[in-house]
Amino acid sequence: MDYVIYGLVGIFTLIILVIITRTLNFKPILYPEMRKKYDIDELRVLESLSQKIKIPTISYLDSKMVDQKAFKSFKEHLKNRYPLINEHATYKEIGTGVLFHIKGESDEEPTVLMAHFDVVSVEGNWTFDPFGGDIDETYVYGRGALDTKSSLNAIMESLEYSFSLGKKFKNDLYVSFSGEEEIYGETQHLMVEYFKENNINPYIVLDEGGAIVSNMFPGVSKKVAVVGIAEKGFMNLKLTAYSKGGHASTPPKDTAVTILSKAVIKLNNTNIFKLKITSSVKILFDTLAPFSKSFAIKMIFANLWIFTPVVKLIAKISGGELLSMFKTTQAFTTSTASDAINVLPTSASVGINYRIRPGETSADVIKKVRKVIRNNNIEIEVLKISEATSTSTVDNVFGIVRHAHLGVSFLTDLIVFRISLNRNMCHVSRFL
Ligand SMILES: [Zn+2]
Repeated sequence: MDYVIYGLVGIFTLIILVIITRTLNFKPILYPEMRKKYDIDELRVLESLSQKIKIPTISYLDSKMVDQKAFKSFKEHLKNRYPLINEHATYKEIGTGVLFHIKGESDEEPTVLMAHFDVVSVEGNWTFDPFGGDIDETYVYGRGALDTKSSLNAIMESLEYSFSLGKKFKNDLYVSFSGEEEIYGETQHLMVEYFKENNINPYIVLDEGGAIVSNMFPGVSKKVAVVGIAEKGFMNLKLTAYSKGGHASTPPKDTAVTILSKAVIKLNNTNIFKLKITSSVKILFDTLAPFSKSFAIKMIFANLWIFTPVVKLIAKISGGELLSMFKTTQAFTTSTASDAINVLPTSASVGINYRIRPGETSADVIKKVRKVIRNNNIEIEVLKISEATSTSTVDNVFGIVRHAHLGVSFLTDLIVFRISLNRNMCHVSRFL
Protein backbone atom coordinates (compact mmCIF):
# COMPACT_ATOMS: atom_id res chain seq x y z
CA MET A 1 0.00 0.00 0.00
CA ASP A 2 2.83 2.34 0.95
CA TYR A 3 4.41 1.73 -2.45
CA VAL A 4 1.23 2.85 -4.16
CA ILE A 5 1.19 6.05 -2.13
CA TYR A 6 4.90 6.67 -2.77
CA GLY A 7 4.35 5.97 -6.44
CA LEU A 8 1.48 8.44 -6.65
CA VAL A 9 3.41 11.11 -4.75
CA GLY A 10 6.36 10.50 -7.09
CA ILE A 11 4.24 10.90 -10.22
CA PHE A 12 2.56 13.98 -8.78
CA THR A 13 5.94 15.56 -7.93
CA LEU A 14 7.22 14.76 -11.40
CA ILE A 15 4.21 16.41 -13.03
CA ILE A 16 4.66 19.52 -10.87
CA LEU A 17 8.35 19.62 -11.79
CA VAL A 18 7.58 19.34 -15.51
CA ILE A 19 4.97 22.08 -15.23
CA ILE A 20 7.33 24.44 -13.41
CA THR A 21 10.29 23.72 -15.70
CA ARG A 22 8.20 24.31 -18.79
CA THR A 23 6.83 27.54 -17.31
CA LEU A 24 10.31 28.86 -16.50
CA ASN A 25 11.50 28.01 -20.00
CA PHE A 26 8.48 29.65 -21.62
CA LYS A 27 10.27 32.77 -22.80
CA PRO A 28 9.11 35.38 -25.27
CA ILE A 29 10.82 35.73 -28.63
CA LEU A 30 12.56 39.08 -28.45
CA TYR A 31 13.20 41.03 -31.58
CA PRO A 32 16.22 43.14 -32.37
CA GLU A 33 15.78 46.88 -32.25
CA MET A 34 15.42 48.73 -35.49
CA ARG A 35 18.79 49.79 -36.73
CA LYS A 36 17.93 52.21 -39.48
CA LYS A 37 15.81 55.27 -39.22
CA TYR A 38 13.98 56.68 -42.19
CA ASP A 39 13.27 60.25 -42.88
CA ILE A 40 9.64 59.85 -43.71
CA ASP A 41 7.32 62.76 -44.31
CA GLU A 42 4.72 61.63 -41.81
CA LEU A 43 2.31 64.45 -42.55
CA ARG A 44 2.24 63.50 -46.20
CA VAL A 45 1.44 59.90 -45.25
CA LEU A 46 -1.42 61.03 -43.02
CA GLU A 47 -2.74 63.40 -45.66
CA SER A 48 -2.63 60.55 -48.21
CA LEU A 49 -4.68 58.32 -45.94
CA SER A 50 -7.13 61.12 -45.35
CA GLN A 51 -7.50 61.65 -49.11
CA LYS A 52 -8.22 57.95 -49.60
CA ILE A 53 -10.86 57.95 -46.87
CA LYS A 54 -12.57 60.94 -48.49
CA ILE A 55 -13.38 58.90 -51.60
CA PRO A 56 -16.60 56.97 -50.79
CA THR A 57 -15.75 53.61 -52.38
CA ILE A 58 -18.68 51.71 -50.88
CA SER A 59 -19.31 48.15 -52.08
CA TYR A 60 -22.86 46.91 -52.50
CA LEU A 61 -24.06 43.49 -53.56
CA ASP A 62 -26.49 45.27 -55.83
CA SER A 63 -24.11 46.64 -58.46
CA LYS A 64 -26.60 49.37 -59.44
CA MET A 65 -26.02 51.00 -56.06
CA VAL A 66 -22.26 51.22 -56.54
CA ASP A 67 -20.95 54.74 -57.16
CA GLN A 68 -18.69 53.98 -60.14
CA LYS A 69 -17.37 57.55 -60.11
CA ALA A 70 -15.92 57.05 -56.63
CA PHE A 71 -14.08 53.93 -57.74
CA LYS A 72 -12.77 55.75 -60.80
CA SER A 73 -11.54 58.65 -58.74
CA PHE A 74 -9.81 56.29 -56.31
CA LYS A 75 -7.84 54.85 -59.21
CA GLU A 76 -7.06 58.39 -60.36
CA HIS A 77 -5.82 59.18 -56.86
CA LEU A 78 -3.43 56.21 -57.13
CA LYS A 79 -2.13 57.65 -60.39
CA ASN A 80 -1.79 61.26 -59.32
CA ARG A 81 -0.50 60.85 -55.79
CA TYR A 82 2.22 58.35 -56.74
CA PRO A 83 4.09 59.55 -59.83
CA LEU A 84 7.22 57.52 -59.08
CA ILE A 85 5.35 54.26 -58.68
CA ASN A 86 3.53 54.88 -61.92
CA GLU A 87 6.83 55.65 -63.62
CA HIS A 88 8.49 52.42 -62.44
CA ALA A 89 5.61 49.97 -62.41
CA THR A 90 3.37 48.52 -65.07
CA TYR A 91 -0.25 49.09 -64.22
CA LYS A 92 -3.14 46.79 -64.98
CA GLU A 93 -6.80 46.78 -64.06
CA ILE A 94 -8.22 43.38 -63.26
CA GLY A 95 -11.89 43.14 -62.37
CA THR A 96 -12.57 46.08 -60.08
CA GLY A 97 -9.00 45.98 -58.86
CA VAL A 98 -5.59 47.27 -59.80
CA LEU A 99 -2.28 45.47 -60.11
CA PHE A 100 1.10 47.18 -60.11
CA HIS A 101 4.10 45.16 -61.19
CA ILE A 102 7.53 46.43 -60.24
CA LYS A 103 10.33 44.56 -61.92
CA GLY A 104 13.23 43.51 -59.78
CA GLU A 105 16.60 42.07 -60.76
CA SER A 106 14.99 38.65 -60.64
CA ASP A 107 11.48 37.48 -61.36
CA GLU A 108 12.01 34.55 -59.01
CA GLU A 109 10.37 34.61 -55.57
CA PRO A 110 8.17 37.64 -56.10
CA THR A 111 6.43 39.38 -53.24
CA VAL A 112 2.71 40.18 -53.42
CA LEU A 113 1.27 42.90 -51.24
CA MET A 114 -2.49 43.13 -51.07
CA ALA A 115 -5.20 45.36 -49.70
CA HIS A 116 -8.65 46.46 -50.77
CA PHE A 117 -10.03 49.93 -51.29
CA ASP A 118 -13.74 49.24 -51.02
CA VAL A 119 -15.52 49.77 -47.71
CA VAL A 120 -18.83 48.70 -46.23
CA SER A 121 -21.75 51.11 -46.10
CA VAL A 122 -22.24 53.51 -43.23
CA GLU A 123 -24.65 52.68 -40.45
CA GLY A 124 -25.38 54.19 -37.07
CA ASN A 125 -24.33 57.57 -35.76
CA TRP A 126 -20.80 58.72 -36.38
CA THR A 127 -18.99 61.29 -34.29
CA PHE A 128 -16.89 62.16 -37.33
CA ASP A 129 -17.94 62.25 -40.95
CA PRO A 130 -17.21 58.71 -42.19
CA PHE A 131 -15.87 60.19 -45.42
CA GLY A 132 -14.36 63.32 -43.90
CA GLY A 133 -10.87 61.90 -43.34
CA ASP A 134 -10.43 64.07 -40.24
CA ILE A 135 -7.01 64.04 -38.63
CA ASP A 136 -6.43 64.91 -34.99
CA GLU A 137 -3.51 64.43 -32.62
CA THR A 138 -4.05 60.72 -32.33
CA TYR A 139 -6.15 59.33 -35.13
CA VAL A 140 -7.25 59.55 -38.70
CA TYR A 141 -11.01 59.05 -38.75
CA GLY A 142 -13.28 57.48 -41.30
CA ARG A 143 -14.71 54.45 -42.99
CA GLY A 144 -11.87 52.24 -44.16
CA ALA A 145 -9.28 53.84 -41.87
CA LEU A 146 -8.52 50.35 -40.61
CA ASP A 147 -10.16 48.13 -43.18
CA THR A 148 -7.96 48.53 -45.28
CA LYS A 149 -7.16 51.92 -46.71
CA SER A 150 -4.46 52.22 -44.03
CA SER A 151 -2.46 49.22 -45.22
CA LEU A 152 -3.06 50.21 -48.83
CA ASN A 153 -1.76 53.67 -47.95
CA ALA A 154 1.26 52.22 -46.13
CA ILE A 155 2.17 50.09 -49.14
CA MET A 156 1.85 52.97 -51.63
CA GLU A 157 3.61 55.52 -49.46
CA SER A 158 6.51 53.19 -48.66
CA LEU A 159 6.94 52.36 -52.33
CA GLU A 160 6.85 55.98 -53.43
CA TYR A 161 9.35 56.81 -50.69
CA SER A 162 11.58 53.89 -51.74
CA PHE A 163 11.62 55.13 -55.32
CA SER A 164 12.43 58.65 -54.17
CA LEU A 165 15.62 57.18 -52.64
CA GLY A 166 16.44 55.53 -55.97
CA LYS A 167 15.60 52.11 -54.62
CA LYS A 168 16.10 49.10 -56.89
CA PHE A 169 14.37 45.86 -56.07
CA LYS A 170 16.08 42.51 -56.01
CA ASN A 171 12.91 40.57 -56.68
CA ASP A 172 9.72 41.32 -58.53
CA LEU A 173 7.01 42.96 -56.54
CA TYR A 174 3.29 42.89 -57.18
CA VAL A 175 0.86 45.24 -55.52
CA SER A 176 -2.70 44.04 -55.81
CA PHE A 177 -5.73 45.98 -54.61
CA SER A 178 -9.30 44.77 -54.93
CA GLY A 179 -12.36 46.99 -55.15
CA GLU A 180 -14.91 44.41 -54.05
CA GLU A 181 -13.45 42.48 -51.16
CA GLU A 182 -16.30 43.36 -48.84
CA ILE A 183 -18.84 41.69 -51.11
CA TYR A 184 -16.73 38.59 -51.82
CA GLY A 185 -16.46 39.73 -55.42
CA GLU A 186 -14.75 38.14 -58.39
CA THR A 187 -11.67 40.38 -58.48
CA GLN A 188 -9.63 38.35 -56.01
CA HIS A 189 -10.26 35.19 -58.03
CA LEU A 190 -9.40 36.96 -61.27
CA MET A 191 -6.12 38.12 -59.74
CA VAL A 192 -5.27 34.55 -58.73
CA GLU A 193 -6.15 33.40 -62.26
CA TYR A 194 -3.85 36.04 -63.70
CA PHE A 195 -0.99 34.87 -61.48
CA LYS A 196 -1.56 31.25 -62.43
CA GLU A 197 -1.81 31.97 -66.16
CA ASN A 198 1.42 33.90 -66.06
CA ASN A 199 3.25 31.33 -63.93
CA ILE A 200 3.88 33.76 -61.12
CA ASN A 201 4.57 31.83 -57.94
CA PRO A 202 4.73 34.21 -55.00
CA TYR A 203 7.33 33.74 -52.33
CA ILE A 204 5.28 35.69 -49.90
CA VAL A 205 1.74 37.09 -50.00
CA LEU A 206 0.66 39.67 -47.48
CA ASP A 207 -2.94 40.71 -47.22
CA GLU A 208 -5.26 42.34 -44.73
CA GLY A 209 -4.83 41.13 -41.18
CA GLY A 210 -5.49 42.02 -37.60
CA ALA A 211 -4.92 45.44 -36.13
CA ILE A 212 -2.53 46.70 -33.50
CA VAL A 213 -4.29 46.04 -30.25
CA SER A 214 -3.73 46.41 -26.53
CA ASN A 215 -4.87 44.09 -23.76
CA MET A 216 -5.73 41.27 -26.09
CA PHE A 217 -4.22 38.64 -23.83
CA PRO A 218 -4.39 38.37 -20.02
CA GLY A 219 -1.32 39.91 -18.43
CA VAL A 220 0.05 41.37 -21.68
CA SER A 221 -0.22 45.14 -21.63
CA LYS A 222 2.11 45.78 -24.57
CA LYS A 223 0.71 46.63 -27.96
CA VAL A 224 0.36 43.59 -30.13
CA ALA A 225 0.44 43.58 -33.93
CA VAL A 226 -1.73 40.68 -34.97
CA VAL A 227 -0.65 38.85 -38.09
CA GLY A 228 -3.30 36.48 -39.34
CA ILE A 229 -2.09 33.15 -40.66
CA ALA A 230 -5.50 31.61 -41.29
CA GLU A 231 -9.03 32.81 -41.70
CA LYS A 232 -12.23 31.18 -40.61
CA GLY A 233 -14.74 30.13 -43.21
CA PHE A 234 -18.15 31.60 -43.67
CA MET A 235 -21.50 30.05 -44.50
CA ASN A 236 -25.06 31.32 -44.60
CA LEU A 237 -27.78 28.70 -44.18
CA LYS A 238 -31.51 29.12 -44.47
CA LEU A 239 -33.71 26.66 -42.64
CA THR A 240 -37.34 26.43 -43.72
CA ALA A 241 -40.22 24.50 -42.16
CA TYR A 242 -43.61 24.12 -43.85
CA SER A 243 -47.15 23.73 -42.55
CA LYS A 244 -50.73 24.12 -43.78
CA GLY A 245 -51.90 27.69 -43.74
CA GLY A 246 -55.33 28.80 -42.64
CA HIS A 247 -56.93 31.02 -40.07
CA ALA A 248 -55.40 31.40 -36.65
CA SER A 249 -58.76 30.75 -34.92
CA THR A 250 -58.48 26.99 -35.49
CA PRO A 251 -54.77 26.28 -35.10
CA PRO A 252 -53.14 22.85 -35.42
CA LYS A 253 -50.81 21.62 -32.68
CA ASP A 254 -47.76 22.72 -34.63
CA THR A 255 -47.21 25.35 -37.28
CA ALA A 256 -44.11 26.03 -39.37
CA VAL A 257 -43.07 28.48 -36.66
CA THR A 258 -43.14 25.97 -33.81
CA ILE A 259 -41.52 23.21 -35.91
CA LEU A 260 -38.73 25.59 -36.86
CA SER A 261 -38.40 26.89 -33.29
CA LYS A 262 -37.70 23.38 -32.01
CA ALA A 263 -34.88 23.03 -34.54
CA VAL A 264 -33.49 26.43 -33.57
CA ILE A 265 -33.53 25.56 -29.86
CA LYS A 266 -31.80 22.25 -30.54
CA LEU A 267 -29.10 23.96 -32.58
CA ASN A 268 -28.70 26.70 -30.02
CA ASN A 269 -28.21 24.17 -27.22
CA THR A 270 -25.99 21.74 -29.05
CA ASN A 271 -22.35 21.21 -28.22
CA ILE A 272 -21.71 19.41 -31.47
CA PHE A 273 -19.34 22.21 -32.55
CA LYS A 274 -16.40 21.16 -30.44
CA LEU A 275 -13.68 23.43 -29.12
CA LYS A 276 -10.30 22.76 -30.67
CA ILE A 277 -6.95 24.42 -30.25
CA THR A 278 -5.97 24.66 -33.92
CA SER A 279 -2.34 25.09 -34.94
CA SER A 280 -2.85 28.81 -35.65
CA VAL A 281 -4.37 29.41 -32.21
CA LYS A 282 -1.55 27.41 -30.61
CA ILE A 283 1.01 29.64 -32.36
CA LEU A 284 -0.83 32.71 -31.08
CA PHE A 285 -0.70 31.41 -27.51
CA ASP A 286 2.94 30.33 -27.79
CA THR A 287 3.85 33.79 -29.03
CA LEU A 288 1.79 35.89 -26.64
CA ALA A 289 1.56 33.96 -23.40
CA PRO A 290 5.29 34.18 -22.54
CA PHE A 291 4.88 37.98 -22.43
CA SER A 292 2.21 37.67 -19.73
CA LYS A 293 3.07 39.13 -16.35
CA SER A 294 0.89 36.52 -14.67
CA PHE A 295 2.74 33.38 -13.59
CA ALA A 296 -0.52 31.39 -13.57
CA ILE A 297 -1.30 32.34 -17.18
CA LYS A 298 2.23 31.47 -18.26
CA MET A 299 1.99 28.17 -16.42
CA ILE A 300 -1.29 27.27 -18.07
CA PHE A 301 -0.17 28.12 -21.60
CA ALA A 302 3.28 26.58 -21.22
CA ASN A 303 1.57 23.35 -20.26
CA LEU A 304 -1.31 22.90 -22.64
CA TRP A 305 -0.52 19.16 -22.58
CA ILE A 306 -2.26 19.10 -19.20
CA PHE A 307 -4.20 22.39 -19.04
CA THR A 308 -6.08 22.31 -22.36
CA PRO A 309 -9.37 21.50 -20.55
CA VAL A 310 -8.80 24.53 -18.28
CA VAL A 311 -8.23 26.80 -21.28
CA LYS A 312 -11.37 25.49 -22.96
CA LEU A 313 -13.33 26.08 -19.78
CA ILE A 314 -12.04 29.66 -19.54
CA ALA A 315 -13.04 30.17 -23.19
CA LYS A 316 -16.52 28.79 -22.55
CA ILE A 317 -17.00 31.04 -19.53
CA SER A 318 -15.67 34.18 -21.18
CA GLY A 319 -17.38 33.52 -24.53
CA GLY A 320 -17.04 36.22 -27.19
CA GLU A 321 -13.84 36.58 -29.13
CA LEU A 322 -11.90 34.06 -27.10
CA LEU A 323 -14.47 31.32 -27.59
CA SER A 324 -14.77 32.06 -31.31
CA MET A 325 -11.08 31.30 -31.75
CA PHE A 326 -11.67 27.70 -30.77
CA LYS A 327 -14.78 26.69 -32.63
CA THR A 328 -17.20 27.03 -35.46
CA THR A 329 -19.76 29.58 -34.34
CA GLN A 330 -23.36 29.97 -35.37
CA ALA A 331 -25.47 33.09 -35.18
CA PHE A 332 -29.23 33.10 -35.79
CA THR A 333 -29.78 36.30 -37.68
CA THR A 334 -32.97 36.54 -39.75
CA SER A 335 -36.43 35.04 -39.49
CA THR A 336 -39.62 35.17 -41.52
CA ALA A 337 -43.03 33.51 -41.29
CA SER A 338 -46.62 34.64 -41.82
CA ASP A 339 -47.14 38.26 -42.82
CA ALA A 340 -50.06 38.74 -40.45
CA ILE A 341 -50.49 37.76 -36.82
CA ASN A 342 -53.93 36.25 -37.43
CA VAL A 343 -52.87 34.15 -40.44
CA LEU A 344 -51.21 30.74 -40.06
CA PRO A 345 -47.89 30.51 -41.84
CA THR A 346 -47.38 28.10 -44.74
CA SER A 347 -43.67 28.32 -44.13
CA ALA A 348 -41.21 29.79 -41.67
CA SER A 349 -37.52 30.44 -42.24
CA VAL A 350 -34.52 31.32 -40.19
CA GLY A 351 -31.12 32.50 -41.39
CA ILE A 352 -27.97 31.28 -39.69
CA ASN A 353 -24.47 32.61 -40.18
CA TYR A 354 -21.66 30.15 -39.50
CA ARG A 355 -17.99 31.02 -39.06
CA ILE A 356 -16.15 27.81 -39.72
CA ARG A 357 -12.88 27.14 -37.93
CA PRO A 358 -9.88 25.94 -39.95
CA GLY A 359 -9.93 22.17 -40.19
CA GLU A 360 -13.70 22.00 -40.49
CA THR A 361 -15.58 22.33 -43.79
CA SER A 362 -19.01 23.63 -44.76
CA ALA A 363 -20.00 20.02 -45.55
CA ASP A 364 -19.09 18.98 -41.98
CA VAL A 365 -21.21 21.78 -40.61
CA ILE A 366 -24.25 20.93 -42.75
CA LYS A 367 -23.96 17.29 -41.68
CA LYS A 368 -23.90 18.36 -38.04
CA VAL A 369 -26.90 20.65 -38.51
CA ARG A 370 -28.91 17.76 -40.00
CA LYS A 371 -27.83 15.48 -37.17
CA VAL A 372 -28.88 17.97 -34.51
CA ILE A 373 -32.27 18.95 -35.92
CA ARG A 374 -33.23 15.37 -36.89
CA ASN A 375 -36.11 16.52 -39.04
CA ASN A 376 -36.05 15.76 -42.75
CA ASN A 377 -39.04 18.00 -43.31
CA ILE A 378 -36.96 21.03 -42.56
CA GLU A 379 -35.30 22.28 -45.69
CA ILE A 380 -31.68 23.35 -45.46
CA GLU A 381 -30.62 25.80 -48.12
CA VAL A 382 -27.05 26.98 -48.56
CA LEU A 383 -26.98 30.65 -49.46
CA LYS A 384 -23.27 31.40 -49.35
CA ILE A 385 -20.09 29.51 -48.63
CA SER A 386 -16.51 30.57 -48.27
CA GLU A 387 -14.42 27.76 -46.82
CA ALA A 388 -11.86 28.31 -44.06
CA THR A 389 -8.41 29.04 -45.45
CA SER A 390 -5.49 26.73 -45.02
CA THR A 391 -3.03 27.81 -42.34
CA SER A 392 0.17 29.52 -43.47
CA THR A 393 3.36 27.81 -42.48
CA VAL A 394 5.22 29.66 -39.80
CA ASP A 395 8.67 29.29 -41.32
CA ASN A 396 11.59 31.53 -42.26
CA VAL A 397 9.43 33.45 -44.70
CA PHE A 398 7.00 34.20 -41.93
CA GLY A 399 10.02 35.20 -39.86
CA ILE A 400 10.44 38.24 -42.14
CA VAL A 401 6.97 39.39 -41.18
CA ARG A 402 7.45 38.45 -37.56
CA HIS A 403 10.58 40.56 -37.30
CA ALA A 404 8.91 43.53 -38.91
CA HIS A 405 8.94 46.37 -36.43
CA LEU A 406 6.41 48.98 -35.70
CA GLY A 407 7.78 52.00 -37.42
CA VAL A 408 9.91 50.64 -40.20
CA SER A 409 10.25 47.08 -41.28
CA PHE A 410 12.05 45.19 -43.99
CA LEU A 411 10.15 42.93 -46.23
CA THR A 412 12.34 41.05 -48.65
CA ASP A 413 14.11 44.08 -50.02
CA LEU A 414 11.22 46.43 -49.76
CA ILE A 415 10.70 48.92 -47.03
CA VAL A 416 7.22 48.72 -45.73
CA PHE A 417 6.76 51.25 -43.09
CA ARG A 418 4.03 51.72 -40.65
CA ILE A 419 3.67 54.99 -38.93
CA SER A 420 3.90 54.65 -35.21
CA LEU A 421 3.46 58.29 -34.23
CA ASN A 422 1.13 57.00 -31.54
CA ARG A 423 -1.48 57.01 -34.25
CA ASN A 424 -3.01 53.64 -33.95
CA MET A 425 -4.20 53.55 -37.49
CA CYS A 426 -1.73 51.19 -39.00
CA HIS A 427 -2.52 47.73 -39.93
CA VAL A 428 -0.44 44.61 -39.91
CA SER A 429 -1.36 42.35 -42.69
CA ARG A 430 -2.79 38.91 -42.87
CA PHE A 431 -0.31 36.37 -44.06
CA LEU A 432 -2.07 34.05 -46.43
ZN1 LIG B 1 -11.12 44.15 -45.12
